[in-house]
Amino acid sequence: MKNHHLSFEFFPPKTPEGREKLRNTRSQLAKFNPEFFSVTYGAGGSTREFTRDIVLEIQAAGSSASPHLSIGGDGKESALELLQSYKNAGINRIVTLRGDLPSGMGDAAQLVYANELVAFIREHFGDTFELLVAAYPEIHPEAESYEKDIYWLGKKFEAGASRAITQYFYNTDSYFYFVDQCLKAGIDQPIIPGIMPIINYQNLIRFSDNCGADIPRWIRQRLQQYGNDMDSIKSFGLEVVTNLCEKLLANGAPGLHFYTMNQVEANAALCRNLGFTEAS
Ligand code: FAD
Repeated sequence: MKNHHLSFEFFPPKTPEGREKLRNTRSQLAKFNPEFFSVTYGAGGSTREFTRDIVLEIQAAGSSASPHLSIGGDGKESALELLQSYKNAGINRIVTLRGDLPSGMGDAAQLVYANELVAFIREHFGDTFELLVAAYPEIHPEAESYEKDIYWLGKKFEAGASRAITQYFYNTDSYFYFVDQCLKAGIDQPIIPGIMPIINYQNLIRFSDNCGADIPRWIRQRLQQYGNDMDSIKSFGLEVVTNLCEKLLANGAPGLHFYTMNQVEANAALCRNLGFTEAS
């Protein structure tokens, strides 16, 4: 598995217990020698300090941290300050997003499209950061059309992004078809599949409804049938997601980015199944 990209995504916990748990998750997953750990950001600025603190902690512990960033209610000045603090800490990669505004932020808050944010960061920080962006094999829920979503992905690369990470999916055809369509539109940068381990049925359904990711009927049926039997859900999830990742890597995906949900067990089990080398 040496040549495949590997990265893990965390959300910034708001409690001391959550942070402690994340420290353990990070140190366990660091054994797989990922290229980076990324940390999500709330577009309204709601996680600003939490994201920055976790990012700085990861970097200080000797791993590479990649903050997610978007401009919403917190504005451009605030983004520039945050980017400067990341530069000072030696961070060299940003996951650049439009994000979604939390409800209740009102009309004053304006989101900045990701291609504009990429251009903004390039304008102010030159080549300091590698910029990664989001891609949607099943198409972003607000996209005008399939073609238009690919068109805007192309604009993110034109503005200076170098790689994309996808929204999660459970259907490899949607990913490979998407990559083909991107190639036809002149996009040949790496598009790394985002992988969501299956750990908890209710959470998975809630996230998927919000972000427009399709859970195939056979997976829903199986998970529904297991009810509260968490062991069966986990072992079914491990089998399904291992197969998904194996097919992706065998057919040319450049690597994998795991939406870890800050959990060790399911993510480490997947990496082991897939043959990623683990330091003892
Ligand atoms: P954009 O690329 O800006 O696209 C948004 C929509 O507008 C699309 O429908 C697109 O077709 C269209 N569009 C794009 N550019 C333009 C333009 N210039 N003019 C008109 N239309 C345009 N959310 C968070 O809140 N925090 C996170 O940390 C986070 N991390 C994520 C990480 C990954 C890898 C992924 C895949 C998603 C993540 N998200 C996160 C979710 C993401 O913020 C939402 O999906 C959001 O709705 C879109 O962000 P984007 O950067 O893809 O937007």
